[in-house]
Amino acid sequence: MRIRSLTARFVLTLLLSTALPFLVFGLIVRVGMRERLEAQVVRVLLSDQSALLAERLDGLTDSIYRDASLIELAARKLIADGDVAAFERELDLLPGFHSDFQVVLVADAKGDVRITVDSFVNDGQGRAAREAMTPASVAGADWFEGAMAAQRSLVWTDRHLSEFLHRNPERSSRDPADYSIGLAVRIAGDAGRSGVVYVVVPWHRVQQIVDDVAARLRGDAGFAGSVAMVCDPVGRVLASSARERYADHAPPAALAGAIRTATPAANLVSFVDPADGEHLAGSARVSRGAERGLDWRGVVEIPARELFATIRDFDRVLLGLGAFVFGTLLVWSLIASRAILRPVRDLARATREIARGAVDVRVRVRGRDELAALARSFNGMSAQLAQSRDELSKTAREAAWAEMARQVAHEIKNPLTPMRMSAQLVQRARREGDPRVLDLADRLARTVVEQTDQLARIAADFRQFAGKRELRLEDVTANQLCDDLAELFAAEQEAGGASLEFVRGAADASLRVDRGELRRALVNLVQNALQAAGPGGHVVVVTARTDDGGLVFTVRDDGPGIPAESRARLFEPYFTTKSAGTGLGLAIARRIVEAHGGTIGLVSADPGCTEFAVVLPGGSRLSPSAP
Ligand code: ADP
Repeated sequence: MRIRSLTARFVLTLLLSTALPFLVFGLIVRVGMRERLEAQVVRVLLSDQSALLAERLDGLTDSIYRDASLIELAARKLIADGDVAAFERELDLLPGFHSDFQVVLVADAKGDVRITVDSFVNDGQGRAAREAMTPASVAGADWFEGAMAAQRSLVWTDRHLSEFLHRNPERSSRDPADYSIGLAVRIAGDAGRSGVVYVVVPWHRVQQIVDDVAARLRGDAGFAGSVAMVCDPVGRVLASSARERYADHAPPAALAGAIRTATPAANLVSFVDPADGEHLAGSARVSRGAERGLDWRGVVEIPARELFATIRDFDRVLLGLGAFVFGTLLVWSLIASRAILRPVRDLARATREIARGAVDVRVRVRGRDELAALARSFNGMSAQLAQSRDELSKTAREAAWAEMARQVAHEIKNPLTPMRMSAQLVQRARREGDPRVLDLADRLARTVVEQTDQLARIAADFRQFAGKRELRLEDVTANQLCDDLAELFAAEQEAGGASLEFVRGAADASLRVDRGELRRALVNLVQNALQAAGPGGHVVVVTARTDDGGLVFTVRDDGPGIPAESRARLFEPYFTTKSAGTGLGLAIARRIVEAHGGTIGLVSADPGCTEFAVVLPGGSRLSPSAP
C-alpha cells in the first residue's frame, strides 16, 4: 500500500522513529528478565530448596535411626531377660521419647506381641487408639515378616507397610495425624529368643519439615502458590504442605519422571498441571533414607505464573506505557501535521488562484517559523505580480492608444492628400491665369466633399471601436434589417458597382436586438462584400431560421476570395489589405454580434464564393451591453 497523504506519512514516521525503539527496547529487557529469572529462581532456588528438603528428611531418618538403635538395645535386653519394667525404664531415659514415638511394640519370633509402650493419653480416645494399634499377634504382617526375613538388623518400613497400625488404611485422609512412620528392627538372639521391635513415629515430624520448607518459599521468596512434598519413587505423595495432595494425589507424568530419576542433587523440571497451568519443580533424593529402606524424594514446586508475575507486571507497565506513548504521539503528530499542512494547503490554494489570474490573493502568516517565512515571501511575490500586472496593463493601454493614434493619423492623412493636391492645382491655375480654373475649383469642391465624407466615416469607425454604450433593445424582424441595408446601399447601387440581392428566408422572424448596432455590423459585412465583388460582381444577403429559434444572416460575394494567410487575422483590429481601410470593420462587427450573444465567422473564402455568417440566438440570450 502506498501512503499518499502527507499527514499519514508524518504520523507514521514519528511513530516508527519513537514508539518502535521504545517497544523494541522493552521487549529486549523483557526477554533478558525472563532468562535471568529462570536462571536465578529455577536453577538456584528450586534446586537449593529441594536439596534442603531432602537433607532435612535425611536428618529426620538419622535421628529416628539413632533413637531406634537405643530402643533396640533395650529391646534386646527385654528379649533376653523378659524384664518389662527395666525395658520401660530404658525407654523413659530416651530424650523426647513420648513426643517422638507414638508406639513401641515388641513381638517374639512367633509374632506374639509381648509388650507395647505408647504415648497416647490415658483417656477414652487414647485407650481406643491403643486398642486399635496394639493387636495380640502381628504374625503375618508385612513389616513383621519382612523384618524377620531380613539379614540386616534394621528394616525401615514406611506407612504402607504398617497398615494395621495405620489408622486410615484406605489412605484417603487429608489429616497428617492419620499417618505415621513405622520402623521394624529384628533383634537376633538365641533360638526362641529373637523377635521384632516395631517403633511408630508420628507423621507430624515429616509434616513439620515440608511445612517449614514451603513456608520459606511462600514467606521469604514470596511464591504464595509454592508447595513442598515428600514423594515415593513413583511420584505418589506421602506428605505435602498442601493438605489436598494427601490421599493418593497422582502427579503429572513429567513430574513423576523427574521424581523417579532424582538424585541427591536436584532434578529440575517444568510441567503443566491441567488444573493450575505451568509449574516448575525441583526434586532431590533423600539419600541416607534410601540406604535404610526409605526411598523418598523431597519435591518443591512453584507455579510459573507466580514466578513470572514480575514479567507480567512489566508487560502491563510496558503495554500501558506503550499505549500512552503511542496515543500521545499520535495526537501530537496529528496536531503538528495539521499545523504544518494548513499553511501548505493555504499556499497551494493561493497558488491555484494565482494561476487563474487572481494575483491579489494573499495567505495568512502564522507564527514565526519557516512556513511563516514561506507565506511571507509568497505574499511578497503575489504583491509583485499584482504590481507587474498593473504596470503591464498600463503599458498595454498606452501601446494601444499609441497604435490607435498612429492609425488615426494615417487614416486622416489619406483623404487630406487629394484635397491638398486639388487645392494646389486651383492655386497654380489662378496664378497662371489658367482658363480651367473654374473646372479645377469645381473638382476641388467635389474632392473636399468626398474626402470629408471619408474622414467622417473614419471618425465614426474609430468612435465605434473605442466607444462603449448600452444596447437599446427593440423587437425587429429580419425583414426590417434587410430593408435597412437595402436603403443604405440604394444610392451606391444606382452609381454602379456590384449588385446586391436579398433572399429573405426568415422574413418575419422577430428578434430583440439593438437595431442600429446590428445594422452597423451587417453594413460592414455587405460593404466588404460589395468592395470585393467590384463592378459587375454580385452580393447576396440570405436570412434563415436556426433550429433553436435564432436567426442566421449570410453575406456571400463572388469576389476574389481571401488568401489563406489572411483568414486567421480577419477579425483583428487594424488588419486590412485595403489602402484606405481602417481594419476595424470586422472587429467592430464581431464585438456587436458577440454583445448580442451571437457568433460571427467566415464560412467560405474561396474565389467566387466568399461567405460570412452571423448567427443570433433567440431573444432571451441577448447580452445587456454592447461596445
Ligand atoms: P477594412 O475593410 O477596413 O479593411 P475590415 O475589418 O472590414 O477592414 O476587413 C479586413 C480585411 O478583410 C479586409 O481588408 C479584406 O482584406 C478582408 N475582407 C473582408 N471581407 C472580405 C471579402 N468579402 N472578400 C475578400 N476579403 C475580405
